[in-house]
Amino acid sequence: MELRFSREEEAFREQARAWLEANVPRGPKPAPHDLPGRRAYDMAWQRTMFDAGWAGINWPREYGGRGASLMEQLVWYEEYARVGAPEVSTGFVGLKHAGPTLIACGNEQQKAEHLPRILRGDVVWCQGFSEPNAGSDLAALQTRAVIDGDELVVTGQKIWTSFGHIAELQELLVRTDPEAPKHKGITWVICPMGVPGMEVRPIKTLAGNADFCEVFYDGVRIPLTNVVGRLNDGWRVAMATLSFERGTAFMSEQVRLARRLDEVIALARRARGPAGKGRAIDDDEIARRLALAKAEVDAMRAMTYRTLSGTARTGMPGPEGSMIRLFFSELVQRIDQLTMEILGPAALEGFDLDGVPEAGWSERYLTGLSQTIGGGTKEIQRNIVGERVLGLPR
Ligand SMILES: Cc1cc2nc3c(=O)[nH]c(=O)nc-3n(C[C@H](O)[C@H](O)[C@H](O)COP(=O)(O)OP(=O)(O)OC[C@H]3O[C@@H](n4cnc5c(N)ncnc54)[C@H](O)[C@@H]3O)c2cc1C
Repeated sequence: MELRFSREEEAFREQARAWLEANVPRGPKPAPHDLPGRRAYDMAWQRTMFDAGWAGINWPREYGGRGASLMEQLVWYEEYARVGAPEVSTGFVGLKHAGPTLIACGNEQQKAEHLPRILRGDVVWCQGFSEPNAGSDLAALQTRAVIDGDELVVTGQKIWTSFGHIAELQELLVRTDPEAPKHKGITWVICPMGVPGMEVRPIKTLAGNADFCEVFYDGVRIPLTNVVGRLNDGWRVAMATLSFERGTAFMSEQVRLARRLDEVIALARRARGPAGKGRAIDDDEIARRLALAKAEVDAMRAMTYRTLSGTARTGMPGPEGSMIRLFFSELVQRIDQLTMEILGPAALEGFDLDGVPEAGWSERYLTGLSQTIGGGTKEIQRNIVGERVLGLPR
């Protein structure tokens, strides 16, 4: 592993930083509950990056990307997070795992049709993997697709489909051979949203927003040309999707988390300590937990670099991505918990220390609870680390 960035990568960093500092939107952001507003905001920013040649840093040039290396992609994400550029949000599925899956497993026509549209901010993608009885045990999925002429006809139900109600396209897993062993009869297909036979019902979360949906399919027709990989080969393609979702999608999180922790430290300098004594930062226990969190964010950066250096060699993230995903999700929750303790009762009422409506701390805390579930629960990530990274017996 090369521990330093090369001269070219550092030059790229300078260029990226200069462009981002000049172009990152500084105006008001849409409210978390305003999904159409968030979509419009995210797609407009994506378009700005695309027009300036900064979309899809390591995606192939022929599909609208910049054709740079994975390490340059990492440098871009670091600078991106450092200047506080908008979170990927509604573009997450398309940019972080549907697009990379198409690059790895799609055919030429699928890449040419979909990759530029993702990079230009023309489309929102969602993911139709989980079902009411198939979450951790994803291969138990029951949504059925039968071939009729040159189409698949889909019947069944998906759940927890983030952004399903504002998406145009979905990475959908369906069972195409119910007789085959459960991992063998699955197909990964690009499903258009809002088509006849489909019903999308939003689900409200405890944070008050409705990013999730249930999606019902009753004879939804999808052209067979939308199958990615081969028919009944969807488990292999889904594993590629999950490796991107758990691996490279988390490249920028160490910088974002470092920024967030600095904000919490600033908060601890202003907040009163436990039982109203002194400042929170002067309390030994709070100071110890903040220092530990800072060391853990540094450890996460080291783990990210190590994993990416392996991915750069092989082209595909390995199961080690689950270590970062797990470490990140638990660390976020520890930092959020500490933040709520520093803020004290004001946090529960949605106020900051000075009695002004607070800057999203409690919303982050509530949303953060889902971090150890989405993309595979912490128990499943531990199983993967145990079995596939450490080689422990099943
Ligand atoms: C924020 C968020 C966004 C999401 N977005 C999407 C999306 O866009 N598309 C999509 O398809 N899905 C999405 N999901 C769903 C997510 O993938 C599932 O919730 C997750 O895989 C867990 O499945 P489940 O909810 O059915 O829980 P279950 O699988 O029923 O698990 C219940 C409990 O049992 C434990 N458990 C299960 N099996 C084992 C085992 N073998 N060993 C040890 N413990 C086990 C689990 O860890 C968990 O604690 C999202 C979830 C969240 C929280």
